[in-house]
Amino acid sequence: MESRRYSIAPNPMSRLATSTIPKRAQSRAQCSEKPWRLRRAGKLTVVECAALDFPWLIHGFSTRPGGASRLARRHGGRHTAETVLNLGFTDWDSRENVLENRRRWMKALGAGNCDLIALKQFHSDAIRTVNSPGASSNPAPLQGDALISRASRRLLSVQTADCIPILLADPERRAVAAVHAGWLGTVKRIAAKTVGRMQMEFGVRSENLFAALGPGIGACCYEVGPDVVKEFASQFADAKDWFDDVFERISSDDDPNPLPWLSMMPPGHERPLRTHLDLHAANRAILLAAGLRPENIFSCPFCVSCRPELFFSYRRERPTGRLMASIALH
Ligand SMILES: [Zn+2]
Repeated sequence: MESRRYSIAPNPMSRLATSTIPKRAQSRAQCSEKPWRLRRAGKLTVVECAALDFPWLIHGFSTRPGGASRLARRHGGRHTAETVLNLGFTDWDSRENVLENRRRWMKALGAGNCDLIALKQFHSDAIRTVNSPGASSNPAPLQGDALISRASRRLLSVQTADCIPILLADPERRAVAAVHAGWLGTVKRIAAKTVGRMQMEFGVRSENLFAALGPGIGACCYEVGPDVVKEFASQFADAKDWFDDVFERISSDDDPNPLPWLSMMPPGHERPLRTHLDLHAANRAILLAAGLRPENIFSCPFCVSCRPELFFSYRRERPTGRLMASIALH
């Protein structure tokens, strides 16, 4: 099997030339890696997309180092504790640490005067509109997986630890959105539905929107089974473009119905065939179908599973922390 692991190390931003990215990924991503950068802010590191560099906009994708939380790790039988920026209320961490981390995150973004609006996420296609100033003082967190707003100083934030965070901005109508897209949300087309809600509520035109698809699990590491393949194949005519290995090998075999083969176990094997899913490619296609221009969609080249020093990955380690993607109007 051809390795699709990106070779970006040790200084990630100096190695973002397209020559380091596998040919297939290059053709998918086109030139969309170029605007990504890491910015140091005190002890924190913020991933930013230059396409969202508007003077009226704050945005960023969080990384792992520099927080108040201590995440236990085991190295060869020895326990050590690592200091991390966990931005989600997880079982292993204290509420005080997470609140302190969120304070540091907002400061790093220059968003200290904003209200942080987070969600109780449940892999849905539920979209919440945030306009009233009192939204963040509500003790019951909003439930959903996308936030949209035209109000100033609302720091719309989604949490991830493998899933794809998507930030949307419209310079014409000055509207923003933050979207959490795991495979379930992707199948439900949450990114396209968020664009639709921005059109309906704010008069946004999709061809004016910029989309930054932040750090998530890459196709290199995102192995999935027949259940996931079947969900995508039932919803998208071009789903096979987002899977590798088994899906492609079988579907190119002139078999009119390749899916049953995915659940077959070859002689001597104890588990069904697996394939790899590219959630960035899927969400890019979904945003294109929603009317965004290809040159306005930017996919971050970092895989959170390949880069443990920079990111959390629920697939790679448990327990793990939560990353946050945030966007606000000044
Ligand atoms: Zn990877």
